[in-house]
Amino acid sequence: MSSTEPMYDVVIVGGGVAGALCARELSRAGLGVLLLEAAAPPTAQDRNAYLQKFYEAEAKTTTSPYPPYPGESPSDLNVPSFRDEDIGDPENSYLEQMGPQPFSSSYLRIAGGTTWHWLGVAYRLLPSDFRLASLYGHGVDWPISYDELEPFYCRSEEELHVAGSVGAQEQLGLRFSPGYSYPQGIVAQSWLDQQISTLLGDLHFDGRPVQVYSLPQARNSTNPTQRRPSCQGNTSCIPICPIQAKWDATLLLEDAANTAQIRYRSVVTRLHVDPATNAITSADYIVYQQSSAGPTVQASVKAKVFILAAHAIENVKILLNSAAPGYERGLANSSDAVGRYLMDHPLQLSWAMSRDPVYPLRGPRVSSGIESLRDGPFRASRGGFRMDIGNEGWNWANNEPNTSAIQLAQPADGSTGLFGAELRNALHDRMVRQFRLGFLVEQEPLPQNRVTLSPDRHDGLGLPVPRIEYELGDYCIAGLQAARRCAQAVFQQMGATDCTALLSSPPVQPGEPGKPPTFTYGFGYFPIEEPDGTRYLPFYGSGHIVGTHRMGASANSSVTDNSMRAWDHRNLFVMGTGSFPTIGTANPTLTLIALVLRSVDMLRRELQTVPVIAATR
Ligand SMILES: Cc1cc2nc3c(=O)[nH]c(=O)nc-3n(C[C@H](O)[C@H](O)[C@H](O)COP(=O)(O)OP(=O)(O)OC[C@H]3O[C@@H](n4cnc5c(N)ncnc54)[C@H](O)[C@@H]3O)c2cc1C
Ligand code: SF4
Repeated sequence: MSSTEPMYDVVIVGGGVAGALCARELSRAGLGVLLLEAAAPPTAQDRNAYLQKFYEAEAKTTTSPYPPYPGESPSDLNVPSFRDEDIGDPENSYLEQMGPQPFSSSYLRIAGGTTWHWLGVAYRLLPSDFRLASLYGHGVDWPISYDELEPFYCRSEEELHVAGSVGAQEQLGLRFSPGYSYPQGIVAQSWLDQQISTLLGDLHFDGRPVQVYSLPQARNSTNPTQRRPSCQGNTSCIPICPIQAKWDATLLLEDAANTAQIRYRSVVTRLHVDPATNAITSADYIVYQQSSAGPTVQASVKAKVFILAAHAIENVKILLNSAAPGYERGLANSSDAVGRYLMDHPLQLSWAMSRDPVYPLRGPRVSSGIESLRDGPFRASRGGFRMDIGNEGWNWANNEPNTSAIQLAQPADGSTGLFGAELRNALHDRMVRQFRLGFLVEQEPLPQNRVTLSPDRHDGLGLPVPRIEYELGDYCIAGLQAARRCAQAVFQQMGATDCTALLSSPPVQPGEPGKPPTFTYGFGYFPIEEPDGTRYLPFYGSGHIVGTHRMGASANSSVTDNSMRAWDHRNLFVMGTGSFPTIGTANPTLTLIALVLRSVDMLRRELQTVPVIAATR
């Protein structure tokens, strides 16, 4: 810290949705706020540059538009490599994957964070999602109820300008404030959604109706805002919206820059604590240059309050890297819960060829889902799930149209391939009937699913990389198997042909003792019984990284209280989806925003009236 560096009211780590929202809200209230963001400063050209990279990328993955790019090593850029392609490659993967299954969700280190490549689905959790233990005997209850969070859900939907329908959501059991309506009407349902809805008739699965609902989503429908146009329906929402019809956190960062200080290329490495009071006193950070040839500078900053908002895995990295005498397990970790209970919504794809054309590749990537199977008595024995109806045909599931084009033009049996109009017509006939379902399955919190620090691998700045131990657990596997059965029932009811590729052997080979397994494709698998024997289905990460610094009612079993304030250090907040005690059955970011707004309201009142206290453990 330079001798002129002031003492800030609040230092915030991370400029994604959580950090940028805190910075904007607290600095607008007149507090002295500094936000430290690991990535380079945003420029007006970023979106076009990212788009260009996406167009040029051979593999169109969720991370392909974003740095670091293929051929650039993490150390060249001084930032972690976190490309989907690298997940199965121990040499290049940023996460040290110890198995037994790969953790294949990614996050971004760019200004604005991971909402650059989020899908924008903005569901609320169900009231029952907050009470999994008391209702169904699994996991834990949240230290906060749906009704306490409801007013903050309304504010979050206003913030994201969510398009949705209260009537549809009420049918799922959600309660809304009287007279409430979403900021804008629903995004139009695709022709595919409408066809599936009609063909399902009164299909039931595990005692529940199988029904299609339009998704609440942070995407402009009919009502563009000043800064964002309406959706043009070209289906590239993941990994990037070319026109920002899909909301992302760069908007918050822009707002925050008016009233807060923001320092870019500033990677926070550790916090310091005063053992006499347990208060956090300062944060160390490294300022790096764009090129690895440039020098790095070590710096430190002091504040009354610190907020970690670097996302579920990076928050843990900072807390564990801050171990000190008397705090050997890292900071905020007297419960030993920091880094544990890592969860995701493991995602299973099933895909089919419809009888009649359904015309995919129009509309946002997803415009509807089958939501009626999120909750029911079955959650006593298996995870609930929600189902996306993908508008991108088999692009994700089977790399279409490339796969079909090659098969038709150069048949594997050596026969003469199609060409010209014949090829176009054959491709058209296939493409207009391809569709897929994606099942996001609830996972139970397991203590052995864990983020720690690698003892011997380091990122480009010399910091230990996160080491991940991850498995699905029986509750989730039973949910994935039910999801697969549900896909088969849906396809049968529709008269569609199931084309899902099943593997005859597991795609993960166990490693030597103490060594990571080999992930052939970078995704995990679960077994499924088919008429001709056991088969294996892949599951993917859905990007919902949850549970690693859980909130709770007791300091013995959780990292923070229900305002995301660390039990051990009362001037430290650890904010993010890592705070969720269970993952529930909704995509997590709307709930994260609601929790952040609630905490920031409390903190603002406190900082404006009384000095911030230190506390004993
Ligand atoms: C493919 C994909 C699709 C998704 N779709 C949805 C969806 O449809 N709906 C939904 O609800 N959620 C979705 N998510 C999840 C959503 O993106 C995240 O929940 C959300 O972005 C988390 O916000 P955050 O601010 O906590 O973290 P981030 O957005 O990751 O921001 C963290 C910030 O901290 C910075 N940072 C990291 N380390 C440091 C450090 N040491 N020092 C300083 N700064 C640091 C990063 O650069 C980044 O800017 C999706 C995720 C993925 C990957
Ligand atoms: S469909 Fe296109 S315009 Fe609409 S949100 Fe997705 S990427 Fe943006």
